[in-house]
Amino acid sequence: MEEVIIIGSGCAGWTAAIYLARAKLSPLLVTGSEPGGLLTTTTLVENYPGFPLGIQGPELMEAMRKQAERFGTRVKYLSVVTDFQCDGKIKRVKIDDEWLETKAVVIAVGARPRKLSVPGESELETKGVSYCATCDGALPVFRNQPLVVVGGGDSACEEALYLTRFASVVYLVHRRNALRASSIMAERVLNEPKIKVIWNSVIEKVLDPKQDRVTGVVLRNVKEEITNLLECRGLFVAIGHVPNTQIFEGKIELDEKKLIKTTEGTRTSMAGVFACGDCVDGVYRQAVTAAGMGCMAAIDAERYLREKSI
Ligand code: NAP
Repeated sequence: MEEVIIIGSGCAGWTAAIYLARAKLSPLLVTGSEPGGLLTTTTLVENYPGFPLGIQGPELMEAMRKQAERFGTRVKYLSVVTDFQCDGKIKRVKIDDEWLETKAVVIAVGARPRKLSVPGESELETKGVSYCATCDGALPVFRNQPLVVVGGGDSACEEALYLTRFASVVYLVHRRNALRASSIMAERVLNEPKIKVIWNSVIEKVLDPKQDRVTGVVLRNVKEEITNLLECRGLFVAIGHVPNTQIFEGKIELDEKKLIKTTEGTRTSMAGVFACGDCVDGVYRQAVTAAGMGCMAAIDAERYLREKSI
């Protein structure tokens, strides 16, 4: 039987692993299908303390992985948790097709990009519709082409700025008349001549599934109720995230946004199950706060195992 299984390999998961491994609990970490989580889809991280010149997201995750493994974390690479039973003292976690028993679980499954849910979006995913500019922006199909980013937060600003390296012009489409992003990011976007912000507008449709590629988007100005066609070759959706908590529904308590509910630190509604990072936090959602919560979950799990002496 395992002492503790960690589900997820973002900042929260690796940090929990570092702490649990140093506590000699030999944790087993299941990476999921996208090891490293959302930070592996970003470029320069400028606000993680300790890196005065910034650090590339994938490099930061690789360093955390090495640190966790150095202290004895065992890793199931590219494995996915497909089912979960947590009502007894002994928890059961199905990893791919195999059930494993464990005394405690740390859930750090993160979140995935939210979809616009408009006609044409799903048909044209990977054919010009993308949820990650840093993953796809450099593709030849986007070079010197007009590109659209939708959203008004830090992610949308970051994506728009990144895409200026490749695009002829970047249109940032936002549904309100003010950006939600932090002032430093908003300022960079508003001062970038290659970015044109289209305010008070939503995307109604992505064209053209018949041609099997993105040729434009239909915009609706929500103030004036006018629609018009904006030609573009790519659409980058950056409108927030939804937590990856489907497999826990009905097993541990979630809130109305499907975030895992925690009390007294990182305890979930089930004893011995702890949760941390973006699957819990809909407010701060930073690499450093996820890492901090990973540390908290590890300390909570360690205390639980010691006190309950299962
Ligand atoms: P976010 O801050 O929640 O912003 C989501 C944006 O998408 C908002 O502007 C929202 O509009 C818009 N939106 C939501 N649903 C929409 C829909 N259906 N149609 C059109 N627009 C929609 O998400 P985020 O930008 O991913 O950032 C998440 C967190 O990560 C934040 O705390 C952010 O600070 C952090 N982050 C930080 C950095 C950095 O520091 N460099 C980089 C990326 C992310 P409204 O404004 O009208 O609500």
